[in-house]
Amino acid sequence: MHYDGMTFRPPYEAYSLLLQVTRGCSHNACTFCSMYRATPFSVSPAEEIVEDLVEATRDYPYTRRVFLVNGDAFCLSANELVTIADMVHEALPHVQSIGCYARIPNVAAKTDDELALLAAKGYADINIGVESGLDDVLTFMNKGYDVALAREQFARLHAAGLPFNVNIINAAAGPRRIAEHAAANAALVNEAQPTLIFVSPLHVDPGTPLERLLGEGRFEECTLGQYLEEEIAFLEGLELDDCVFFGLHVSNPVPVQGLLPRDKAALLTALREGMAAIPPEVLASHPSKGSEGRLRRHW
Ligand code: SF4
Repeated sequence: MHYDGMTFRPPYEAYSLLLQVTRGCSHNACTFCSMYRATPFSVSPAEEIVEDLVEATRDYPYTRRVFLVNGDAFCLSANELVTIADMVHEALPHVQSIGCYARIPNVAAKTDDELALLAAKGYADINIGVESGLDDVLTFMNKGYDVALAREQFARLHAAGLPFNVNIINAAAGPRRIAEHAAANAALVNEAQPTLIFVSPLHVDPGTPLERLLGEGRFEECTLGQYLEEEIAFLEGLELDDCVFFGLHVSNPVPVQGLLPRDKAALLTALREGMAAIPPEVLASHPSKGSEGRLRRHW
């Protein structure tokens, strides 16, 4: 299989076949993101995709789900994505669905008919890092869209029958706006009604613009305790019909997962009890300052 530069996938795609169709991220400019800084964006040559599918046919013939990598494979045109889907289904007849990372502008660039065609071709549970329900936070993060555009694209995806997951970065508005950010994120997600929500804390990674802004005093980082306060407030505000709440990433201070609305009370209890069990010095630390190691020792 061809994998160039860094390759990422959501934790819940661990059993999916990762098929590289792009390298890097077509945006590659989010304030907090270091994932593809060293990998210039490019589209995989068709020959490489064919070679990988030949290998997959030989080694993983019963693959049921394919996840297209890298950073935002949904940036490809609808025609390109349809061609890839046809190649996947021909090579791997047991495939039931195809996912990938997608940005809000990737969705906006496609017509309603194209989105419906992609759904018919098996695209499902595409992973959208919407991150925040506040416009000024999206601007600060340099996400390249606003809340209104995100809301519009979520409605278009539902109308097209193309299910999607969303990522929310709790604590991204800083410690003074925990309640406001939690409420805005919950309102956006309640309207979006995704299949799955992936929640994680904001990390300040070395070499990112966010690290510079933190050093200049233009951003205030939340502690792990404040992150948990916001995650709890966010979950309290969620009113979802049928959605996985996924907080099992290694960066989640209290690992939880459940189905909403069924498990809402149990998830809140687990978060509150987990928070109460964490030593105060760990709760007072920041996600980017080695807290994962301290938490692993704690758990
Ligand atoms: S769109 Fe995703 S992968 Fe690309 S820079 Fe932003 S967070 Fe990173």
